Amino acid sequence: ADAPLPAEDVACDDPAERDGIDKIRLEAQLRDALESGTLEVRYQPIYDIRDGHVASYEALVRWNLPGRGPVSPAEFIKLAEETSLIVPVGEYVLERVLDVLVGLRDGGAERLPGIAVNLSARQLLEPGMARQIVGRVQRAQLPAGVLKLEVTESRMLDYAPVHAVMRHCREHGVPFALDDFGTGYSNLTHLHRLDFEFVKVDQAFARHMFDSPRAMAIVEAVVGMAHGIGADVVCEGVETRAQLQRLRELGVRYAQGYLIGQAAPAAEVLSGEAARLGV
Ligand code: C2E
Ligand code: CA
Ligand code: CA
Ligand code: CA
Repeated sequence: ADAPLPAEDVACDDPAERDGIDKIRLEAQLRDALESGTLEVRYQPIYDIRDGHVASYEALVRWNLPGRGPVSPAEFIKLAEETSLIVPVGEYVLERVLDVLVGLRDGGAERLPGIAVNLSARQLLEPGMARQIVGRVQRAQLPAGVLKLEVTESRMLDYAPVHAVMRHCREHGVPFALDDFGTGYSNLTHLHRLDFEFVKVDQAFARHMFDSPRAMAIVEAVVGMAHGIGADVVCEGVETRAQLQRLRELGVRYAQGYLIGQAAPAAEVLSGEAARLGV
């Protein structure tokens, strides 16, 4: 165990340092991807349990790094948040989503599907962010409620500025979902202090409804609570018919998960939508 390490390993024997180098390289590659437009946005359907149709989509960013393969958003979104890259990543996704919606509208769609874009609290608090989002939605002349925002990571939330940003967006027809409710920093205080149209129950709960009575009890309680404050519930991670049926019985409005569909490229979503809407 005490044998000397080969020279090339000695050169980088500090894991923290190696980590730092990897991050710097990945950051540079992400910057390139943004510039060359190689980030992809995929769309996962969100199903309206009540009327049995796909009501909207969640935009999920994808990065396929040449020579390395797909980089998980969990990894590069975290990296982007640690740097300032999360701002251009967010703008990139928003632009793509607005393009899709405008494309559908200009293609003659009578009713546009909603599309939800993920935003971290950090992005939301970026100066001028709310004005920029509202400005883009207005310029695109989209109907109210079509673009939705999902608030993710929200560590050190300073409620007053978040509240102001959310109010401004909402007044201009952009509703909010509280994402990953029940895990991490997505907590009851957010529901208490801020006004969300949707509560997205973290996928861990729906996924374990039938193997954990506790998960089932939590889903039931969250549904009651969300309805009590006038929010609709979206359950993520729905993978089986039994889960969907139980959610229906509980009065959950929306379901998202592999049972309904995985995230797909815009072209597929667009052609599906066009067919569905009789375009
Ligand atoms: P999220 O917002 O909670 O997104 C849901 C994640 O769960 C997605 O992973 C989706 O592919 C996955 N998922 C959906 N249905 C199921 C299911 O039935 N079973 C299982 N096992 N998984 C399912 P993905 O695309 O890897 O995204 C991971 C996270 O990265 C997202 O979690 C979100 O927090 C973040 N993210 C993705 N795109 C963006 C973005 O454009 N901006 C920001 N700020 N964050 C993003
Ligand atoms: Ca989300
Ligand atoms: Ca989520
Ligand atoms: Ca989600």
